[in-house]
Amino acid sequence: MLTFDTSYTRLPEMLWSTCQPTPVKAPALIAFNAELAAHLGGAEPPDEATLAGWFSGNQLPPGAEPVALAYAGHQFGNFVPQLGDGRAVLLGEVVDPQGRRFDVQLKGSGRTPYSRGGDGRAPLGPVLREYLVSEAMAAMSVPTTRALAAVTTSERVVRQLPEPGAVLTRVAASHIRVGTFQFAALHQDHAALKALADHVIERHYPETTDAKSPYLALFEAVLKRQAQLVAKWMGVGFIHGVMNTDNMSIAGETIDYGPCAFMEAFDPQKVYSSIDEGGRYAFSNQPVIAQWNLARFAECLLPLLEGDQDERVEQATAVLRRFNDYFDPEWARISADKLGLAEGSEQAAQMMAALQAQMQQGRMDMTATFDALTRYAQTANEENRDALFALTDKPDALAPWLDEWQGVQVAGQDETRRQAMLQANPVVIPRNHRVAEVIQAAVDGDFAPFHAMLAVVTQPFDDTPEARKWSAPASEQEQVLRTFC
Ligand code: AMP
Ligand code: MG
Ligand code: MG
Repeated sequence: MLTFDTSYTRLPEMLWSTCQPTPVKAPALIAFNAELAAHLGGAEPPDEATLAGWFSGNQLPPGAEPVALAYAGHQFGNFVPQLGDGRAVLLGEVVDPQGRRFDVQLKGSGRTPYSRGGDGRAPLGPVLREYLVSEAMAAMSVPTTRALAAVTTSERVVRQLPEPGAVLTRVAASHIRVGTFQFAALHQDHAALKALADHVIERHYPETTDAKSPYLALFEAVLKRQAQLVAKWMGVGFIHGVMNTDNMSIAGETIDYGPCAFMEAFDPQKVYSSIDEGGRYAFSNQPVIAQWNLARFAECLLPLLEGDQDERVEQATAVLRRFNDYFDPEWARISADKLGLAEGSEQAAQMMAALQAQMQQGRMDMTATFDALTRYAQTANEENRDALFALTDKPDALAPWLDEWQGVQVAGQDETRRQAMLQANPVVIPRNHRVAEVIQAAVDGDFAPFHAMLAVVTQPFDDTPEARKWSAPASEQEQVLRTFC
């Protein structure tokens, strides 16, 4: 099923270490993503016992030569020189039938040379959370790593309390991070830095090869993808929670789902992560933080640019300043889709900002608001209007906004724009309290709720009775205000 063709280990050895997974007591398959496996190509999957062996690390699939990757990173603004895959190994890379290359990585597979004090393991809860949220993000067309499999280990991992252990198999365009460049730059290994940059250009940004200054073009290409990625997060209310530079993918995918969450009642300052005490990674800070991380990336690339030091800094700074040139049009496009307004309309971002103010003042659930607006746009009747107004504490303030929106909508008279709303506004997202609920059931031995939730969050735009069972915002008592990794 997996035919490995691993290119990363052709890079200088300072960037990786050979490392075998540590076998677990009794692996059992929780989930296997057959659809994703089929996309990756290769032969039919083997039987379940073999899959459980592979995706726990107990047996290696043919051709796998596992390595742990080295990286550094800024964690909450503080530089940590030695991070790296402390509980993950890259089994290898596969090339799909379209010629796209993907990493296949085990997470929770035991200690590595980069584990520091950690146990190299992952508890079941975070494995299930990453599975659900990454697959939901993929279904909403947000660039992301994917989940290929999850396995329980029959071993306990000790966090605050002992918890069941699990291993996640994750598929990514690559696991190269801003922190990977920071690691090479920190060690002033020019050959490794250049080899890494050339690898990234060939693998992710081949269009920059022929640029006048390929490494500057690489920086701009990464900046563009990151700006567009973060705009997409904002469109679905996603809060990453740990936007450290070691958790920012150079390929522009969402990576390292830890204490992430989807926002419920709209609040730009919203933070769920238990470890984000200062609110550094609050919802509305995400674009600025992405830019901050990109500045750290640019610093790593300086030795590869042309000219004297001042000229290099100047070139990189000029590119860094273009973040909003990529973010703003993407945000305008997302706003137009979510509101069903004309594409490229200047009004879209403006109407979006006004609606966000309404959502904030009226403490409106973000996902439910856009969902209700979508239903109202399809059928502008009393019932759908009431459903929207039921979401706000300040109906009098919402009414003028809705009138204005309707005026612009009707003036546009464009059925396809109304249709766009159906593909931009999910009925169901993995709500924090429901994620917590399915994790608790799984810890107690019942995986049926996990599978039921996975089925709906991977069809997030389908308005079905089953989806409606998962779509309601948390009640006051149900709210989960803190998420843990
Ligand atoms: P994260 O906050 O998950 O991005 O992880 C930051 C760093 O800590 C990475 O280098 C991880 O590999 C490492 N790490 C996290 N959890 C563990 C663990 N249980 N054992 C070893 N290393 C870990
Ligand atoms: Mg090495
Ligand atoms: Mg990480």
